[in-house]
Amino acid sequence: MENHDEAEYTCRICGYIDDGPRWANGTPDNDICSACGSEFGLHDTLLQGVRELRGYRVGQGEPWSDPECKPEGWDLLRQLAKPPAE
Ligand SMILES: [Zn+2]
Repeated sequence: MENHDEAEYTCRICGYIDDGPRWANGTPDNDICSACGSEFGLHDTLLQGVRELRGYRVGQGEPWSDPECKPEGWDLLRQLAKPPAE
C-alpha cells in the first residue's frame, strides 16, 4: 500500500533526490528528473514501467539528462539503493 499522506522527494526511477517533492499527497508534480529525465506522474506511476525504465537506464550506464546537476562523486549503485522496491 502506498502512503499518500507523505511527500516523496526521491525519484522513483533512479533514486535521485531533488529540492522539491516529486509527489505530494498522491499527486505528482509533473516535473522532469534532472538525473534520468523521467516525468513524475507519467513514467513512474506503474511499477512495471518503473522497473523497465530502471533496467534500461542501468543498461545505458545511467546517462544524466542534465549533466550539470550531477553531483561530484555520484555513484550509480548507491543511488539505485535509495528508491523503494515497490
Ligand atoms: Zn530520476
